[in-house]
Amino acid sequence: MDKPLVVLWVGGGQDSTALLYKFAFDSFFREKWLKNDAKLVAIMADTGDEYPETYEHVEFLKLFCVEANIEFHFITPDMGFHGRTWQSLSHQMDLNSTIMSVAFPKSCTDNLKIKVCYNFLEDYLKKYYGYQGKRKRAFYEYRQQFGKLVSIIGFAKGEENRMAVNPQLDLFPETLKDDRPVYMQKCVEHFYPLIAMLMDRFDCQDYIRSLDMKVPQPSNCMMCPFQNEAEVVYLHRFYPERWQIWVAKEKAKLLKNQSKERNLGVKGEIPLEQFLQEALKKYGHWSDAQLKNYRMTHGHCVKSKI
Ligand code: SF4
Repeated sequence: MDKPLVVLWVGGGQDSTALLYKFAFDSFFREKWLKNDAKLVAIMADTGDEYPETYEHVEFLKLFCVEANIEFHFITPDMGFHGRTWQSLSHQMDLNSTIMSVAFPKSCTDNLKIKVCYNFLEDYLKKYYGYQGKRKRAFYEYRQQFGKLVSIIGFAKGEENRMAVNPQLDLFPETLKDDRPVYMQKCVEHFYPLIAMLMDRFDCQDYIRSLDMKVPQPSNCMMCPFQNEAEVVYLHRFYPERWQIWVAKEKAKLLKNQSKERNLGVKGEIPLEQFLQEALKKYGHWSDAQLKNYRMTHGHCVKSKI
């Protein structure tokens, strides 16, 4: 195969969906990013804990991509690219009687999204181009043949602080640090077209609507510790079983570590049930429509860098 590859990372929310539609419907955009007859591959990792609305949207995207002749891979644990101890968010929590917390170093994005996607991509490069070797060797072989692999990330305007590589790195390499793994630094170049086009979250929604397509719900895990009060009220009202599971997991973690001096929950010192009570005082009176409307504009893996 002598075509270069362009990878679009899909999160299942509004920003990456807008980019996917740009590739499908905007010939100017497509020509800009798919130079030299490059092949587009869209990749999304399953965390196992997305909202049902997101899984529905993923099913839609699978069909859409077939129609649009775009290769889309939704990586589920059975495909073998998830880590042994990170089959899903719940799996990791159950394995270690732990929880994800705003107070802990955040390992979930790296283990459930970034590593899974790059494990898949390494395998893809080997199969597609016939590269050999382990330990991300395929990325170096790709670079040798085509230059750095183009990675398209759907961060919107206003999310510049999520970019792992500071855009000024090229200008001030001695003062800024690229902390991605070495193979990624050397072989993969990230691009953020939404930021370059000055498109924020609302512009993405408008663009999707302008195509007469359904605007998907922003994606994030149902047990994501970074959900704010209104989002927690949303989870509690529309998915009470999942809320109870989350509370039970937190209780199990606190019980297991009760003898430790520092024993924090999902929201740090405040247990989830107490956090909910405070949240209900502010948002409990909101109608279903108000909560759903709010949810459409909030919530994604906001703390993640890639
Ligand atoms: S959405 Fe939240 S819980 Fe899920 S991977 Fe991202 S930070 Fe972790």
